[in-house]
Amino acid sequence: MIPDKKKHAAQIIKRLKKEYPDAHCALVHTNAFELLIATILSAQCTDVRVNIVTANLFRKYRQPQDYLKVSQEELEQDIRSTGFFRNKAKNIQAACEKIIANFDGAIPNTMEELLTLNGVARKTANVVLGNAFGIASGVVVDTHVSRLSNRLGLTEETTPEKIEKDLSELVPKKDWIMFPHWLISHGRAICNARKPKCAECVLENICPKIGIIRNDR
Ligand code: SF4
Repeated sequence: MIPDKKKHAAQIIKRLKKEYPDAHCALVHTNAFELLIATILSAQCTDVRVNIVTANLFRKYRQPQDYLKVSQEELEQDIRSTGFFRNKAKNIQAACEKIIANFDGAIPNTMEELLTLNGVARKTANVVLGNAFGIASGVVVDTHVSRLSNRLGLTEETTPEKIEKDLSELVPKKDWIMFPHWLISHGRAICNARKPKCAECVLENICPKIGIIRNDR
């Protein structure tokens, strides 16, 4: 039981911020539209794989109209290795149609509007708003954020929406955009899913390590 969760969160933030000063969005992009596409492709796929695919994709498709000039089958082949490519291609083309029809071809910068686009749920919208527009609309919750937030005792919830609600109450709004990047960096470097390196962890003496078997000793 953690008596003061806000203080606990503040300590975590302070240490991770120092540990990962260069943390940033791992999806390569040069504008909001590319980040939107990359984030849609990142569902059930690694950021590394998405970046390999988008290196070519973004040369061929530069704006929403470009995705509508090809057949769904052609787009499917271009994104095939990211998995779930049929659904992703269908969503990307439908989202591009809406971006052109409803937003004059520009990516909207509100949660409400982004959620009208196919393939876009809160996580994707938060990624785009935070990293492309610098708007702190919420806290991005992916598998790393979910795992670490539970282990660190910041939440007992399991669904992204509820975890996000807990985190947004514990993390100051000024850190909403960066907090997921710090947790993701830590999840990749130290707090792995199967074998967390607790002995090397800067949070070792404040982490309740909820739900894991101690395997670092
Ligand atoms: S102490 Fe262990 S479980 Fe806790 S954050 Fe560090 S690596 Fe993860």
